[in-house]
Amino acid sequence: MEDRPPNECLGIENADLNRYLNRASATNTPLSASFELTRRCNFRCVHCYLGDQQALQQHRQQELDTDTIIKLLDQMVEAGTLFLTLTGGDPMLRPDFIRIYEHAVRSGLLVSVYCNGSLITEKIAAAFTTYPPRIVEITLYGATQKTFETITQRPDSYTACIQGISLLRQAGVRLRLKTMAITLNYQELPAMRSMAKEMGLQFRHDCSIIPALPNEDNSGRTNSSNDIRRTDVKENFLQETLRFRLSPEQAALIDVGADDVKKILQDLTKQNDDITKISEKSSRKIYHCGAGRVSYHITPYGKIQPCIITLQPSVDCVTGSQDFVLCWKKLHEEFAQQKVTKDFACNTCEDNRLCTGCPSGFVLEKGSPEDVPSFYCKYAACRRKKSSDS
Ligand code: SF4
Ligand code: SF4
Repeated sequence: MEDRPPNECLGIENADLNRYLNRASATNTPLSASFELTRRCNFRCVHCYLGDQQALQQHRQQELDTDTIIKLLDQMVEAGTLFLTLTGGDPMLRPDFIRIYEHAVRSGLLVSVYCNGSLITEKIAAAFTTYPPRIVEITLYGATQKTFETITQRPDSYTACIQGISLLRQAGVRLRLKTMAITLNYQELPAMRSMAKEMGLQFRHDCSIIPALPNEDNSGRTNSSNDIRRTDVKENFLQETLRFRLSPEQAALIDVGADDVKKILQDLTKQNDDITKISEKSSRKIYHCGAGRVSYHITPYGKIQPCIITLQPSVDCVTGSQDFVLCWKKLHEEFAQQKVTKDFACNTCEDNRLCTGCPSGFVLEKGSPEDVPSFYCKYAACRRKKSSDS
């Protein structure tokens, strides 16, 4: 859920970053990576796309060990990676988190860390002081303990998260708060935003819940192949998370209630149509993002895939004497050039730039990257209407 330009904390101008991105795209350089150090988490969030934490705990032995991760990081740097996001689960559940983090920063990577805040210790805060991250992002699940813990299903998780935030603030670490706005917490969004403001921190929200991933960790719960038939998906309890999704109207209302998001939406509404029509109309591609072109994701088990929710293609990049560059090339060739098989509504859609939908999310929800869930079209239309009205 990396939905912000990756330059906010670096003082890099967008024009400069775009030069990097264009160059990386022209040369198929794997510029940006996310790395799930573990899928295990000490919270049990009701909407979590990782699925069954009990099953995930059993995969601990299959997670990459420290030396393998460090070797892989070196190969990633060698291949041209500059931006790295360490994520989870909660990456700080790993006792070797500091060692991995420090190695990544010392290797020259610009490292962001996504976590739930509850496992931050003085030692971790000190490591962030010595080797500053680009940003640490902590998810706030509510402004009150009751709401927070209704979502995380963990007593005392609210206090632990607030303590973690406090430790990082005292250490002067660059920090941002965010939330997933769902039916259980959206009414506390203004209060969460105020909390962040009082702490002098940036805050962002996301309204786009996705179903739980049908990956190896949830294999006991579903068909683990990528070919999920629509009827299977409909009845699949991996989709239970969608119970907590806001209606398109509620989500759009929340977006325009945030001044920064409203401004972006208004600008996009103004410039949207012509650009979309010219650039996308004649395209036969399914994916238009950077996944598999300039960015990629590494699973805790050593697979490289296009992004955190795009499970195929998936290439083992650690077993034996795997060459990372060859794995990246294989991923790129298999994924980036995927073509549409029918008229794909998104390629000619005038609301394209206002839309939070993604073909990989469509796979999770409908079984095919070209089968668009109505939620996203309604949400984009509501965003357009509400940002024009306001
Ligand atoms: S904190 Fe994140 S990874 Fe952990 S259970 Fe909640 S949503 Fe899932
Ligand atoms: S999901 Fe709907 S609104 Fe979004 S780009 Fe596709 S057709 Fe347009």
